[in-house]
Amino acid sequence: MDYKSEMQQLREELNRANYRYYVLDDPDMEDHVYDRLLRRLEELEAAHPEEITADSPTQRVGGAALESFQQVEHPVPLESLQDVFSQEEVEEFTGRMEEALSSAAYSVEPKVDGLSVALEYRDGVFVRGATRGDGRVGEDVTENLRTIKSIPMTLPDKLSRLIVRGEVFMPKNVFHKLNRQREEAGQPLFANPRNAAAGSLRQLDPKICARRLLDIRVFNLQLAEGRSFATHGETLDYIASQGFQTIPHKVLGSAAEIGAEIARLGESREELPFDMDGAVVKLDSLSDRGTVGSTAKCPRWAIAYKYPPEQKPSRVLDIVVQVGRTGVLTPKAVVEPVRLAGTTVTNATLHNQDFILGKDIRIGDTVVLQKAGEIIPEVVAVLPELRPEGTVPYHLPDVCPVCGAPVVRDEDGAALRCTGAECPAQLHRNLTHFASRDAMDIDGMGPAVMSQLIEKELVKTPADLYFLTREQLEGLERMGKKSAQNAVEAIAASRERGLERLLYALGIRQVGQKAGKVLASRFGSFDALAAASEEELTAIDDVGAVTAAYIRAWLEDPQSRHLIARLKEAGVSMEASRQPAGNQFAGMTFVLTGALERFTRDEAAALIEARGGKASGSVSKKTTYVVAGENAGSKLRKAGELNIPVLTEDQFAEMLEG
Ligand code: AMP
Repeated sequence: MDYKSEMQQLREELNRANYRYYVLDDPDMEDHVYDRLLRRLEELEAAHPEEITADSPTQRVGGAALESFQQVEHPVPLESLQDVFSQEEVEEFTGRMEEALSSAAYSVEPKVDGLSVALEYRDGVFVRGATRGDGRVGEDVTENLRTIKSIPMTLPDKLSRLIVRGEVFMPKNVFHKLNRQREEAGQPLFANPRNAAAGSLRQLDPKICARRLLDIRVFNLQLAEGRSFATHGETLDYIASQGFQTIPHKVLGSAAEIGAEIARLGESREELPFDMDGAVVKLDSLSDRGTVGSTAKCPRWAIAYKYPPEQKPSRVLDIVVQVGRTGVLTPKAVVEPVRLAGTTVTNATLHNQDFILGKDIRIGDTVVLQKAGEIIPEVVAVLPELRPEGTVPYHLPDVCPVCGAPVVRDEDGAALRCTGAECPAQLHRNLTHFASRDAMDIDGMGPAVMSQLIEKELVKTPADLYFLTREQLEGLERMGKKSAQNAVEAIAASRERGLERLLYALGIRQVGQKAGKVLASRFGSFDALAAASEEELTAIDDVGAVTAAYIRAWLEDPQSRHLIARLKEAGVSMEASRQPAGNQFAGMTFVLTGALERFTRDEAAALIEARGGKASGSVSKKTTYVVAGENAGSKLRKAGELNIPVLTEDQFAEMLEG
């Protein structure tokens, strides 16, 4: 067989297997066979790249990243739906329909809580997919949609043009897994599957989207050139015959039947792979739809029934406080187990101290719980008439429940945060930050390695890294002899990074890279910094009162002292890589202009400030020097007008050296 025919055959065979697996949920090809065929196709495509077609299953893993999304105009608008909240409103709707039409049948479907997209096919080939946007113009997310395996790339019928509309979602099990992984990696969690799906579909890099394992249910035929249908049900059957996963639907005749189906759907929601945020009721006959028409935004022939969030009372048995990886204290109510929206609930989120005091939630209270699309239920209200005697307002502890270090309130919010330098709850995050490129830059010690080190209790503080042996590292998963040796060397080399990086690596609140540099060049050694008073620290430009207070508190905490002592014991350098700067720029104001070669603007400014000078953004009579790099513009002219001395980058560098 020639390679072209073989490629064609492989594509067809693999696409068919995909369809069985992803659409029918009834696989008929073993994984290793699938992998073998796919590999063969990849080989042929590598040898004959000109033969790669858009419908090739190899094109679903995500191609090159985009700069931005193109806009796409929808030839048939993607309309919104009128919400209703009660059976009476359903009856009003069917009443309106029956007034306009002699009789009517309705399709009742789950409303998938995801993102609406339009999929366009030309001559049976998927050519474009777009988000809903404002309904008329959306964004071209074709490459991301290709990664959704239940979207067919080619169709059996080769209509000149076909557009279908569906809802993309993240399956609930994928969502929970993703969030578990994010939690382990210390990344922020997605609030619900909808947000996760939206975030994934709007990734410019389709490879990220591919990993998110999105799925789709197609619920409407937008356009099918050369075909006509009488009912919505027929269009869904047709769409299914073309290889799409369609929305489950039932065609019913009366408001009572619709009500019963809505209730049934509501009860079955736990079994669905997607989150359902309502039920949609639509006229089934397409000509009837034409008769009743649409308003500017919504069709008149459909409504979305929104289920009320289920609410149940339960008693607060206790309030427990957990410490997250970033050190934030999160209070949680432990409640008497209660069945709510399909699951047994044993605790509820209390967000933070302000939330608790705002609602005055106390241990012993009976509270009303509700699940509103989020994973953990929330407290809607307290029932004060059921409050037992002797309860007291609840206050979060002022020391960390895990390590006992003091807790501080975030300067910009309601969160309370543990300050412990060796707090076990924050260890993973502290370790990965410590080893990260801009901090101690320890190659080969990423989040996965750190997780194992913690699990095996080989490391309890960042300082323990320096006492690891090659044998210990070799015992970790996916760590060979060579990489263990490299890791040991990388750890040892990091001892000499210098005080500026160390200060940043320690994770003191508000001490970023810039503050690390400023403090290091001002004090020269850790011990000199540790001896500085809060006033001295506050006096440094770029530090300020808040940061100074954080630094002092950190320095005084026993955990920090222990950590520093261990780092010293390990031979980690506590000296600045440059000598302390002194105060030679006191009273001087510098203005930087143009592109400097050796420093970024921020670095140059930090160096000036570390020597007691000021870096300003505009030239005035008060300016002492203007430092002019490549392509300096108006500031240089202004310096000329005001007779202000101008330094080249070299002259400036010499001044820095003193
Ligand atoms: P809304 O955005 O609240 O106006 O609700 C309308 C949206 O529900 C549509 O834009 C679709 O994205 C979505 N939807 C989900 N499932 C269905 C369905 N079975 N029929 C129609 N729309 C649906």
